Amino acid sequence: METAGKTLLFDPFITPNALAGAISLDRVKADYILISHGHFDHIADAVELAQKTGATVISNFELVSWPGGKGVENAEGAFYFAGDTALTLDLKLIGREFDLSFAVLPIDDNLTMGAKDATLAADFLKCRKVIGVHYDTFPLIKIDHTAAVKTFKSAKLKLFLPPSEVRLICDFSLQLGLSRVVSSL
Ligand SMILES: [Zn+2]
Repeated sequence: METAGKTLLFDPFITPNALAGAISLDRVKADYILISHGHFDHIADAVELAQKTGATVISNFELVSWPGGKGVENAEGAFYFAGDTALTLDLKLIGREFDLSFAVLPIDDNLTMGAKDATLAADFLKCRKVIGVHYDTFPLIKIDHTAAVKTFKSAKLKLFLPPSEVRLICDFSLQLGLSRVVSSL
C-alpha cells in the first residue's frame, strides 16, 4: 500500500507461499511493516524484510497475543486491515470513528470469517469497498471466487480479489487502482 509517499507492507508471507513464488524479496519495498499477529502465515518474511528495507515494524506488544487489526489514517484517507478474525461487533467502533476508503478483510470461511460475514463486517465498518485476503493459500482455505464476488454484489458492496501472484504484497493497490480510491478522499 502506498500512501503519503510511504510504502506500507502488511503481514509478509512470501518465501514459504507457493502463490507468491514470483515475488523476490529484493523487489519488496517498505517504509513500515505492520503485523497483525504472530502466525507463520503473517510473519514469515518480516525479519528479513525489515533488515533489507530498514522499515519500521509496527505490531502488538506481544506478537503472539490476540490477533489485532490495524487501521491507517492520514490526510489521504483511512483504511482498515483486519488481520485474521471472525465477525465481531467491535468493528462497529471502527466504523463510527473512521471514514474508511476501503477495508482489507479475510474471507476464507474456515480459519476466519467468510464472504457472507465479511459483508456484515463491511456494514459494521461503514465501508463499501473490500479487498479480500487470506484465501486459496492452503487447500483448507480455497474459496469459490465467483460466489464470493456475488455475495458482495448482492449486499451492494464491491469485493476486490487481487491476482494471486501479488496477493500478499502491498503494491496490489496500484494494480487495482486503489491508490486512487485512497487519494480521492
Ligand atoms: Zn492467517
